[in-house]
Amino acid sequence: MAAPERDVPHIDPKESLAAFMKGMAVADPEVLRGTAAHQALSRFGQGFRRRGLFGKSWPVTKIGQFWSHSWRERRWKKTLTLMIVFNGPAALVAAHLAAILTMLLLGAGVLPPVGHPLFDGRPLHFYCQSTGFVAVVLTVLLWRPGRTIFLDRICIHQEDPKMKGKAITSMGGFLKHSEELLILFDETYTQRLWCVIELAAFLKSREGAAARANSVQIRPTYLGPAALAIFMMQVLFLFANAMLPTLDVPPVALILALAPQLTLLYLAVDLMRRVHREKHAAQTRLKTFRLQDAQCYCCTVNHTNPKTGKRINCDRDVLTGLVQSWFGSVEAFESQVRGDVLQLFSRQLGVHMFSYRFLLVMNSGILFWPMDCLAWSAALHGEIPGFSQFWIMFLPLVWILAAGPLVVVWAEFVTRLLQKQQQNLWCYRAVNVAGVLLLMLGFAVLFVFTDLPKKATPFASSRSWLEFQTYKFLFDLGILSAVAIVAWNVQTCLARINRVRQA
Ligand SMILES: [Zn+2]
Repeated sequence: MAAPERDVPHIDPKESLAAFMKGMAVADPEVLRGTAAHQALSRFGQGFRRRGLFGKSWPVTKIGQFWSHSWRERRWKKTLTLMIVFNGPAALVAAHLAAILTMLLLGAGVLPPVGHPLFDGRPLHFYCQSTGFVAVVLTVLLWRPGRTIFLDRICIHQEDPKMKGKAITSMGGFLKHSEELLILFDETYTQRLWCVIELAAFLKSREGAAARANSVQIRPTYLGPAALAIFMMQVLFLFANAMLPTLDVPPVALILALAPQLTLLYLAVDLMRRVHREKHAAQTRLKTFRLQDAQCYCCTVNHTNPKTGKRINCDRDVLTGLVQSWFGSVEAFESQVRGDVLQLFSRQLGVHMFSYRFLLVMNSGILFWPMDCLAWSAALHGEIPGFSQFWIMFLPLVWILAAGPLVVVWAEFVTRLLQKQQQNLWCYRAVNVAGVLLLMLGFAVLFVFTDLPKKATPFASSRSWLEFQTYKFLFDLGILSAVAIVAWNVQTCLARINRVRQA
């Protein structure tokens, strides 16, 4: 959402209309400004939080990416999502480099192996995992993406009413000079008049449907919290695995080891149910969109500044003027929102909450565990592990490529079925618990399948252990991939049928 949500200076609608009749122009080259993405993200999202950052922006002739967001959404969710989107690829590379380096140092005996304090000093697999995970956290927090972006709070002067006024009347020009529009989607996005106008105007400024669709990226703000939850679940699972290498321990220890993961699973079910509802509500709102129903900050506070008690002008007059000059009429604008904008949301937010690529990246940390095992083996035996030991690196691939995405498809299916909100809080929580149990059932089926005893598999007659493991790996990967692909596409088809039926 653009900056003028608060304390909008008065702009004569006729004047703005006249300026925009000429096209989406910039009132003054000085107001077309950009900043680097890292300026907005440093200090955990200072661009969404701090005032007086105008000095961190500079005049530009082109904006790489225009960030469109609702001021109503929580800042930490927007920040975390942007950090994952911008710093995630670098974090992935850094984590694997750190883990591989640790594996080499441990294997070569430079790092001393540490034995388990409780289990007779048996290998404690935590070196590669620790360095990998620390590298992820540090890179996500400290990486400095340099892309030129537009963020209202930094690129529009918030304290100088004249500059602010010029910037607001130039909003169409900013959008026209932006190569890409990044939408931080949350449940309030399609309710906010400014947000919807930014998106509709951006589409309007692009020729051709393909060019429009390709230059808009919708990134839901649940991606940040979801990535954090998946990451924490992996860290907890891998450390529980390192600390409890056998299940032959007192039940209390098992419960303590599982409790944090079950809590995270509960929160994940709660989040996914809410996301289903939000997506559905956002699409319904766009389908029946009317300019008069969209919200402006000024109208919600009855055009009085809550802090100073001074009167605020209504944005709606200015925005209606803009809409008429860009689209010809309010009706034409509304039909663009119900058509192009709705289509874009349906396609990009679509059926699946996470892309396959996102899941691959998030799950790739499972590879750190076999790295630890290999390094230990090399350190204990004083030689490079043979090929038969290297196969352990392939084991997690079954989970990364097939089983992990399959679990997520199952989670999406379960939470879509259970998305309805119960009025009674305890009923709502009970449904969350039911969701957790259904997810655990999915996990259990997968564990049983991947742990089938040798004689229950079709290649029980394999001559050597390595031969059996190779067949078993290919068998698991093949079957689970096939099931995952079918489940993934069935959900896509069902969603398309649903969309056609509703349209
Ligand atoms: Zn108003």
